[in-house]
Amino acid sequence: MSYDLIIIGAGPGGLTAGIYARTRMMITLILDAGEVGGQLVSLYPDKAIQNYPGFERIQARKLSDKLYAQVESMECEIKDREKVMEINDGKEELIIVTNKSTYHAHSVIVATGMGMFKPKKMGAKGEDEFEGKGVCYILPPKEDLIGKKVVVFGGGNSAIEMALIADAVTNTTIVHRRNEFRCDESNTMALKKSNINAVMGADLVSVNGDGRVRSVTLKQGDRTFDVEADVVLILIGISADLDDLKRWNLELTENGLIKVDYAMRTSRNGIFACGDAVDYEGKYKQITTACGEAATAANSAYKFVKKPYWA
Ligand SMILES: Cc1cc2nc3c(=O)[nH]c(=O)nc-3n(C[C@H](O)[C@H](O)[C@H](O)COP(=O)(O)OP(=O)(O)OC[C@H]3O[C@@H](n4cnc5c(N)ncnc54)[C@H](O)[C@@H]3O)c2cc1C
Repeated sequence: MSYDLIIIGAGPGGLTAGIYARTRMMITLILDAGEVGGQLVSLYPDKAIQNYPGFERIQARKLSDKLYAQVESMECEIKDREKVMEINDGKEELIIVTNKSTYHAHSVIVATGMGMFKPKKMGAKGEDEFEGKGVCYILPPKEDLIGKKVVVFGGGNSAIEMALIADAVTNTTIVHRRNEFRCDESNTMALKKSNINAVMGADLVSVNGDGRVRSVTLKQGDRTFDVEADVVLILIGISADLDDLKRWNLELTENGLIKVDYAMRTSRNGIFACGDAVDYEGKYKQITTACGEAATAANSAYKFVKKPYWA
């Protein structure tokens, strides 16, 4: 059997592409190497998203669940924990090889986001030793934080938003190596109104403990001091693993992301792309932009496969 469309990645981009493809009744399969939902479930499931139109606030996991339910209700086939390894050219079709199987499709949308991303590490003494024993890179469930001292490292939106979630239930400190945060103004305001203790212009020297994290040592100018901690949350960014894109022989920009034209076409015939995996001047990595590009990519795939008279 040959699918009309195979979508690689089930983040908000891939799921939206599935919704649009099914409105065109394209026989569609979505494959994801991990869990359906992409970054929303793997990086910030508890975060309240405030900039997805139509919802004043919606928990990331709930938004992902809604997208999943919508695409499933449209009878789009979805397989999780199946990683795409190769996209080969066949005779008037593409052959998609995963770690489990081989599929045939007339078109492909690459919606792999930041790939199989990993959180960036600070490289401080004790960080590796206490990973999983207090040092973490994803905010633990709120219930597990009650009564604990949380120290968050980072100065971007993610660090501040996670610190705000933790602050709702426990004593929280945020440490940033610069003197100003790099975040949305609404987050700076929320931080000012919160009880979070902000330590600016400070570096992490070491994570200390005795089988579990007990404190962190910070250096601020000439001063070195300890802050008590049970949980050390490090949110200084993610390292994208974009090796798949190179292997798939797609033309990439200097940032290592997929070059697309205005119709979300890639350099390979029949392969389209959307979301965090693509790059162009002015690209803004957000859920809404991923969804918008997904609608265009699905429409382009439809025109490519079905060749309607009006296209
Ligand atoms: C901490 C944090 C907070 C954020 N907050 C917001 C916010 O409030 N509002 C907002 O609009 N945006 C926010 N963003 C950005 C937003 O999450 C991304 O822009 C969005 O998730 C991009 O969607 P995507 O579908 O392109 O990729 P992703 O969500 O990254 O999904 C890609 C999927 O592809 C899968 N995949 C990768 N490689 C393969 C492969 N070879 N085979 C099969 N599957 C594969 C992955 O497993 C993943 O599930 C935030 C990001 C972070 C890190």
